[in-house]
Amino acid sequence: MEKTIALVAHDREKKDLIEWVEFNWGTLSSCRLVCTGTTGRLVKKALKEKGIDCDIEMLKSGPLGGDVELSARITEGKIDYLIFFWDPMEPQPHDVDVKALLRIATLYNVPSACNRATADFLISSPLFNSEYKPILKDYSEYLKRRIEF
Ligand code: PGA
Repeated sequence: MEKTIALVAHDREKKDLIEWVEFNWGTLSSCRLVCTGTTGRLVKKALKEKGIDCDIEMLKSGPLGGDVELSARITEGKIDYLIFFWDPMEPQPHDVDVKALLRIATLYNVPSACNRATADFLISSPLFNSEYKPILKDYSEYLKRRIEF
């Protein structure tokens, strides 16, 4: 079954993500890839230089709403894995969107890797290509809560 993987990297982490994608292309080539704009453009370019022409769905650039688009995809159940190399040393103009993406990925129990080591563990897991469906918490009680005006 085809997995959909979201790839996002902040500027100083993009080189790392591209190396990781190239190294793992054998596995990733059978997945659908969704990227924020600049990450996607650079991944595609790097693969092309290696003679690989691949389809990558590109959302808006992160600071222009790409992280928010990706968060929405997660709420729709359209993302199987999130590889998000965020920069721990640099504040981002869209910090709130970054935080939202991380929160939504956690809320929807999407397997997520925020650094290369975790991404290595994720992609080499026997569960990676399985029918694994993350368990979703039941929020029906939360949705039924009464609010007094
Ligand atoms: P970018 O966005 O791929 O367009 O650079 C990354 C991000 O979310 O910061």
